[in-house]
Amino acid sequence: MKGAHHALCGAAAWVAVASTAPYTLGWYPVSPLGVVAGTLVCAGAALAPDADHHDATVAHSLPPVSEWVCDVVGHLAGGHRNGTHSVLGVAVLTAIAWGAGQLTVTTERLGDLAVGAGVLSLLLVAFAARALGLARRRLDAWALALALATFVTVAAPTGWDWLPVAVGLGAAVHVAGDMLTGSGVPLLWPWEPRPPRWWRRTPLLNDVWTAGGNLALPVLGTTGSWRERLLVAPLTAYAAYGVGAAVAVGSLTALGYDADRVLARAWEAASALVGTAAVVGVVTLQVPLPG
Ligand SMILES: [Zn+2]
Repeated sequence: MKGAHHALCGAAAWVAVASTAPYTLGWYPVSPLGVVAGTLVCAGAALAPDADHHDATVAHSLPPVSEWVCDVVGHLAGGHRNGTHSVLGVAVLTAIAWGAGQLTVTTERLGDLAVGAGVLSLLLVAFAARALGLARRRLDAWALALALATFVTVAAPTGWDWLPVAVGLGAAVHVAGDMLTGSGVPLLWPWEPRPPRWWRRTPLLNDVWTAGGNLALPVLGTTGSWRERLLVAPLTAYAAYGVGAAVAVGSLTALGYDADRVLARAWEAASALVGTAAVVGVVTLQVPLPG
């Protein structure tokens, strides 16, 4: 799967899991600020497993430092699409995010500051901003990331509790996305059992458990295929809807309104409007025009 597509899948996954707006799962509800910041963090985390090779979006984000990091990660993880694309890789990334969340600095003026979480999310948001085209120039991406990370760290010191969840979810979505393409992933790395010879000779079976020991559900075909774009388009709209709903709730609450009630009313009004339009449409079609 392409870098930007990974990021968009990560963004949509966070909206589904963390938002409580209509048409979301709300399994891990967070504040409106957590939905907006988490969408970018999760999108960035959905790029992180590709930090195992030199040509990834992540590698170009802050050269030469990001290139060195990618070389080291690739070395540790056994090359591209190996360790970082497994259950163990997702667990390690989640643990790193949890560890970063434990790094706090106590200041007299602002109290405890979650510096570790702030720095990690700064990196992830910068990755996401570049991949999603939110910032055209490299410096803009870092400026946006720095502003967001500083804002959450200072404004909501306990607002980073969700960081390991967002990072783990993003990484898992990346691995799942690559698993849907033909090359598959070594899900159980470092254990990479190879299929027997008769298996490799059977067309469909060979696609699901490849000769190299990768596991795949190759419904998307090759990376960047039209099927991949077809999957990502509605997910992009869904992510935009979730962020928009969070911004609306956050703004209404800040202005002193009962955001849930206002949105529920707006939702009822919109539903009634759509319903009326549908009825009018049906009636118009039923009634024969004069002449
Ligand atoms: Zn990948």
